[in-house]
Amino acid sequence: MARVVIIGGGLAGCDCAWQLARAGVSVELYEMKPDKRSEAHTEDGLAELVCSNSFRATGPAAAIGLLKDEMESLGSLIMEAAHATRVPAGGALAVDRALFSDFITRRIGEHPQITVIRREIADLDAPELAGADAVVVAAGPLASQSLTASLIGLVGDERLYFYDAIAPIVTRESIDFDKAFWGSRWKPEDDDYLNCPMSEDEYKGFVAALLAGDKVQPRDFEQEVHFEGCLPVEAMAERGEMTLAFGPLKPVGLVDPKTGERPYAVVQLRTENQDKTAFNLVGFQTKLKYPEQKRIFRMIPGLENVEFLRLGSIHRNTYVNAPDVLDADLQLKARSGFFLAGQISGVEGYLESAACGLWVGLSLARRLSGVSVVKPPVETALGALLGHLSTRPDKRFQPSNVNFGLMPGLTGKMKKKFRKEAYGVRAQEAFAAWLGQTGLAD
Ligand SMILES: Cc1cc2nc3c(=O)[nH]c(=O)nc-3n(C[C@H](O)[C@H](O)[C@H](O)COP(=O)(O)OP(=O)(O)OC[C@H]3O[C@@H](n4cnc5c(N)ncnc54)[C@H](O)[C@@H]3O)c2cc1C
Repeated sequence: MARVVIIGGGLAGCDCAWQLARAGVSVELYEMKPDKRSEAHTEDGLAELVCSNSFRATGPAAAIGLLKDEMESLGSLIMEAAHATRVPAGGALAVDRALFSDFITRRIGEHPQITVIRREIADLDAPELAGADAVVVAAGPLASQSLTASLIGLVGDERLYFYDAIAPIVTRESIDFDKAFWGSRWKPEDDDYLNCPMSEDEYKGFVAALLAGDKVQPRDFEQEVHFEGCLPVEAMAERGEMTLAFGPLKPVGLVDPKTGERPYAVVQLRTENQDKTAFNLVGFQTKLKYPEQKRIFRMIPGLENVEFLRLGSIHRNTYVNAPDVLDADLQLKARSGFFLAGQISGVEGYLESAACGLWVGLSLARRLSGVSVVKPPVETALGALLGHLSTRPDKRFQPSNVNFGLMPGLTGKMKKKFRKEAYGVRAQEAFAAWLGQTGLAD
C-alpha cells in the first residue's frame, strides 16, 4: 500500500488526506497544533478558519460558486463539512467555525487510512518523511519558521512575506439594539446581518480616528503587500474620505427603521455561529493596535459598549513563486516526490486552498497507482485556479483567488449582465465533459 505524508492539517491538508484515503492510500497527517501554533491559530482542531467564517458566494454566476460545485462533485470533505455546519449569510456560504472544525477533525480521525500525528515537521529531510512514496507540504501561509527555512533551502529566494489582517468578533449581548437593526442589503426582512447606521458627522469622525489610530508597524524582514480583497480598514480609509462609504460601509439597499431613511454609512456585522451569539465586523481587517481597536471601533453607533471576543491582527503569508518552482503536478522541481498544496502553493482563500489540496490528493492517488489524470480544463473553476499556478506572469507572481479573469475570455458580443452566466454555463459544461472523460464522478 502506498504511503503519503502530509505536513499540515489545515484546509488543504485535510481535503488532500481525504482524497488519498478514499483511494486506498495510507496517509500520515502531521499537524503541529496544539504544541506549536502560528500567530493566527488559536484552536486545537483541524481545518481551523483563522479569519472570516464565510466561504463566499454560491451559484454558477460566481467563480467561487462554481468551485464549490466542482469540489462537491469530486467528494470534498471541506464542502461536506461546510454544508453540515452552515449558518445563515444571505447568498453566501458561511459556517459555524467551531462545528466546522469539529466535523472535519472527527471525520479525519475516524478514517482507517489516516493517522493524525500531532507534531511539527521542522525539516524536509526529517526522519518522519523517510521512505514515504510522496510528501505533501500543506503547511499554509503561516508555516512554521523552521519548515519555511527548509523550503527556502530547496527553492532559493522564490518566496515572499506580506501582511493580511483579521477582522474583530464581538458578542451579541453587548450590541445596542436600540441603534443596530437587522437586514441584508435590499432585504429588510432578512436577519443574516446586523447594521450599525452612521450619520455624516459620525462617519467622518470615525474615518479621522482610523487615520490617526496607532498601528502595528511591519518588521524589518517582512515586506508589506496587501490584496485588494483583504485591505485593512485603515488602508482603505487612507485612499480617501469616502472610500469606505463606497466600499464595505456603503448604505445602499438599507433603510434605518427608526428614521425611515437610508443612513450616511453602515457598518455591517455578520453572524459567526448558528446561535447568532457572535458577530464579525465585515471588512474590518486591521493593523490597528489592540487598545486602539477597542477605542475606535466603539465609536460605531450601537457598538459603544461592545465586548470583543477577538480583535483584529496582522499576519504574514508564505507562498512560493509557483510557475518557477512547481511542475504541472504541483511537485517541487527541486525535489521529486515532494508536492505543495494550499495557500503555500500560490492560491489565495479558504476554498481555493482546500480545492488545491483536494486536487493534489486526487491526482497523487492515481499517480501512485500508475494512472495519470488530466487536469480539468481552464474553462472550469478548478482548472482556472490550477492554471494560475503554472502561468508565468509578466511581473512578479502573486497568489490568486478563483475568478472569471483566470478563465479564457468569452467569444462574441454579449451584454454585460449575461457574461457571468455565460462563464458559468461554459464552466459547467466543460466540467461535466471532463468528469465524464476521466471517470472521476463521485
Ligand atoms: C490570518 C489569516 C486570515 C485569513 N483570512 C482568510 C479569510 O477570511 N478568507 C479566506 O478565504 N482566506 C483567508 N486567509 C487565507 C487562507 O485561505 C487561509 O490561510 C487558509 O487557511 C489556507 O489553507 P491552508 O490549508 O493552505 O493552510 P492552513 O489552513 O493554515 O493549514 C496549515 C496547517 O499546517 C500546520 N502547520 C504549519 N507548519 C507546520 C509544520 N511545520 N508541521 C506540522 N504542521 C504545520 C498549521 O498549524 C495549520 O493547521 C487568511 C490567511 C491568514 C493567514
